[in-house]
Parts: sequence; structure tokens; C-alpha cells
Amino acid sequence: MLESLKVILEIQELDMKMIQLMLLKRQRQKELDTINANKTSLSQRVADKETEILEIKKLIRLVEGELNDVLAKIKKLDSQQGLIKKVDEYNAITHEISAADRERLAKEQRLSDYYDKLNAEEDLLKGIQETLNSTTESSTVLESEILESIHHINEEGRVLKDNRDELVALADSDVFKIYERLLRNKKDRVIVPLENRCCSGCHIMLTAQHENLVRRGERLVFCEHCSRIHYWQESKALEDTVVATKQRRRKTTKV
Ligand SMILES: [Zn+2]
Repeated sequence: MLESLKVILEIQELDMKMIQLMLLKRQRQKELDTINANKTSLSQRVADKETEILEIKKLIRLVEGELNDVLAKIKKLDSQQGLIKKVDEYNAITHEISAADRERLAKEQRLSDYYDKLNAEEDLLKGIQETLNSTTESSTVLESEILESIHHINEEGRVLKDNRDELVALADSDVFKIYERLLRNKKDRVIVPLENRCCSGCHIMLTAQHENLVRRGERLVFCEHCSRIHYWQESKALEDTVVATKQRRRKTTKV
């Protein structure tokens, strides 16, 4: 195998772990976002309901005031009527009193409707508040579990990065640049072994000539189909590298 590929292969393994780790982190972050969105939406519903209830209470106070005015008016008319001697004046006041009484009934009906609405809205508010409380309570445990796992992911990521930095310092910078560019495109392993003349990245067969070039390991050889870099797995070199051991282990677990 091309000597300069060995370190890069180790970097690649760390990068694969890092990609997995970042996927996991994004997933956990999304779970956290969902929990928070739920709580925010419930809080908003509580606030909206409270505003609605406040509006109803204002209307109730308004109509109660109007009703008191009508009642006072009726009382006044009643006492005026007691002092009146003339029949036509008496009748006029009776007429006024019955008009005020109709007004009173209408206002009482409106008040009773508002009270019904107030009760219904207050029941709804109580329900939403209970849901919010239980959601907050149950998500507290989940949230701290997620935050802790994100903390672990960050720690693990830091260790991976430190190890990677050390390896990058040892790597051939030209080959490393090519590797990074390929990795950015593929987000997957970009230095892969040629197996039975087949690219283990894109699984397309290559020529015997290509295989010879890879086997010689004198320069970088790219897959003509997927642009990945190929390497030859020599059995002795295989035993020597940690990477190879890992790859073998992966194969056996797949079977
Ligand atoms: Zn390929």
C-alpha cells in the first residue's frame, strides 16, 4: 500500500466516527427542539385563552354596569309613579317602565350567556394548563437525558478531533487535501480497498491494468467511476494496521 495512505486511512476511520456522532447529535437536538416547540405552543395557547377570558370578564363588567343603570332607572320610575295623580302621565310612566324592564331582561340574558361562555373557557384553560404542566414535568427528565447525551457526544467529538489533529500533523499534506475534498463530496469512506478487481466504494468492476497500478502502490490511483482512492490490501500490511483489523471485524459481524 502507498505509505502516505496509511495515516489518512486512520484519519478516515476517525472521520467516519465523527460523521456518525454528528448525525446522532443532530437527531438529539431535533428531539429537544420538538419538546420545546410543544411547550411553547401550549404556553401560547394558555396565554391566548387567558386573554379571551379577560375580554369576556370586561364585557361582563360592562353589561353589569348597564344592568345596574337600568335597575336604577326602573326604581326611579317606580317612585315617580307613586307621586303621580294624572292618569295619562301615570300610563306614560308605566309604558317607560315596561320598556326598561324589557331592556333589563335582554341585559340579564346577555350576562347569563357571558357567564356560560366564561365557565366554558375557564374549563378549557384548566385543561390546557394541566396538559402544559404534565408535559413540562414529563419532559424535564427527557430533556436532561438528551442534554447529558449531547454533552457526552461533544466530549467524544473533542477526543476524536484531538486524535485527528495529531494524525493530520503526520499526514502527507497533498494527499490529505485530496482526501478532504473527496470526503466533503461523498460524506463517506473515500479511500477504499479494491476487492476482486471491484471498487468497494461504488462496486463497479475495474480493469486488470487498474488493479496492477493499485497493487504496485507507487502513486494515488482513483476509481474512474466514483473518484475514490483505491488501495491494495496486502495480507501482511493488513495484520499491521488497526484500520484493517477493524474492517475485518466489521466484515465478520456482517456475516
Ligand atoms: Zn468506485
